[in-house]
Amino acid sequence: SDCGNSKECPLKTNTPTIKFTKLFINGEFVDSVSGRTFETKDPRNGEVIAKVAEGNREDVDLAVKAARAAFDHGPWPRLSGFERAKIMLKFADLIDQNIEELATLETLDAGKLFSWNKNADIPGGANTLRYYAGAADKIHGDVLKMSRELQAYTLLEPIGVVGHIIPWNFPCTMFFMKTSPALAAGCTMIVKPAEQTPLTALYFAHLAKLAGIPEGVLNVVTGFGRTAGAAISSHMDIDMVSFTGSTDVGREIMKASAASNLKTVSLELGGKSPLVIFDDADIDMASSLALQGILFNKGEICVAGSRVYVQEGIYDEFVKKLVKKAKDWVVGDPFDPQVRQGPQVDKAQFDKILSYIEHGKREGATLLTGGKAIGNRGYYIEPTIFTDVKEDMLIVKDEIFGPVMALMKFKTIEEAITRANDTKYGLAAGIVTKDLNVANTVSRSIRAGIIWINCYFAFDRDCPYGGYKMSGFGRDFGLDALHKYLQVKSVVTPIYNSPW
Ligand code: NAD
Repeated sequence: SDCGNSKECPLKTNTPTIKFTKLFINGEFVDSVSGRTFETKDPRNGEVIAKVAEGNREDVDLAVKAARAAFDHGPWPRLSGFERAKIMLKFADLIDQNIEELATLETLDAGKLFSWNKNADIPGGANTLRYYAGAADKIHGDVLKMSRELQAYTLLEPIGVVGHIIPWNFPCTMFFMKTSPALAAGCTMIVKPAEQTPLTALYFAHLAKLAGIPEGVLNVVTGFGRTAGAAISSHMDIDMVSFTGSTDVGREIMKASAASNLKTVSLELGGKSPLVIFDDADIDMASSLALQGILFNKGEICVAGSRVYVQEGIYDEFVKKLVKKAKDWVVGDPFDPQVRQGPQVDKAQFDKILSYIEHGKREGATLLTGGKAIGNRGYYIEPTIFTDVKEDMLIVKDEIFGPVMALMKFKTIEEAITRANDTKYGLAAGIVTKDLNVANTVSRSIRAGIIWINCYFAFDRDCPYGGYKMSGFGRDFGLDALHKYLQVKSVVTPIYNSPW
């Protein structure tokens, strides 16, 4: 495989062989029961990278059986937090030893920038394991004096067998965002990666085994949503499903939980996040932030700043700078260190984004820049900015999940707040201003799980985020995520004849 325009292309010297393509169940790589496989493709050219085992209901059953046995009888939930942490730290070190190969797989499978995978997503996954390993031996409940005659203590217990259903936009980050707190809590689990991007998850399963994570604790079942995914959300023996993906599928997962065993559900869904830029902003900084806010990871990110509101006093100058920067933005092969935006993940996503762009044109929005596919090979799309948009246009209402910005003008702070909140979603928001009071007022007024003031995408594993409204519920990252994999048991005991 060759990556065209880059001198430093790692693939020229180091084409990876795909080592892991089978399901990982009970500590072993196995074929699917049906023997079926599916193809995973390189979004730079649509070529097949590998055939991967296609898990279905029977495979999920086997994985759940293994996870159930590991939870009910195995060592993992019974180890001290400190012992679990030691194994998790070893797992993290093994990831660090394989960064180059993992980053290459992630770029091949998802079209994500190699430099970003190598410097952020893959080592970041290892660091997420380390963060939650640090918390594993600090999980404890409270002691409650209920009355003179009664005392209670609370135990925090692992919730049980967890199904993690994850999307394709951040395969590695999501894998560890979900599995690390669950591992620290003492849960056992089944991970279903997205069908577009199964490769790194299987590699992680191999490293988990090398690190000494006992059999059955971490199972990976690759396959499709409507089969393998649905088998997880409707399973009678899974205690919780933790999902990130589209709002429509989130709804299906809640229905499946309700119709089966009322398993706990945590949902991180779509977004249409506003970035609000006030007249006092540094226009240069604000335009860069706005552009990154929509183009980072080719717009395939749930917290993308896809609605940009700019106050009227700086609007014209802002537009000039923004459009110039968008035209200079380099789209191309994600292995090339000069490139800032790779191909969309697959043909379906590519077609969907282009159809939204066509819709925007038809609805009468003005195209400031972009608006087309690039080349005729792979799934590349120009950075696209629409203005003269109205709040009821689809390109303002729907999550496009691509490099498409809707740019709007506003007059007052009250108007900005009202329009920023005029969405069914509530995942993130950004504010650019030098006025602390404006920043704080808008932060309190916007209904979203994370607010960035004079920054965007400032994420770290210790900072929780998640949805308001139809962006879902439950938090990922931070200690909030650890607590979602724990449940509270109160143990009450009488105290006789106490004078206190
Ligand atoms: P999706 O929601 O269809 O898929 C996400 C995961 O859910 C995948 O692993 C998929 O196999 C699984 N899944 C699909 N149907 C399922 C079902 N019925 N039961 C159980 N699991 C099921 O997302 P997508 O099709 O990959 O992307 C569609 C849109 O979702 C995107 O355009 C974007 O708007 C949104 N999205 C959001 C995020 C996010 O981070 N919030 C991530 C990816 C996609």
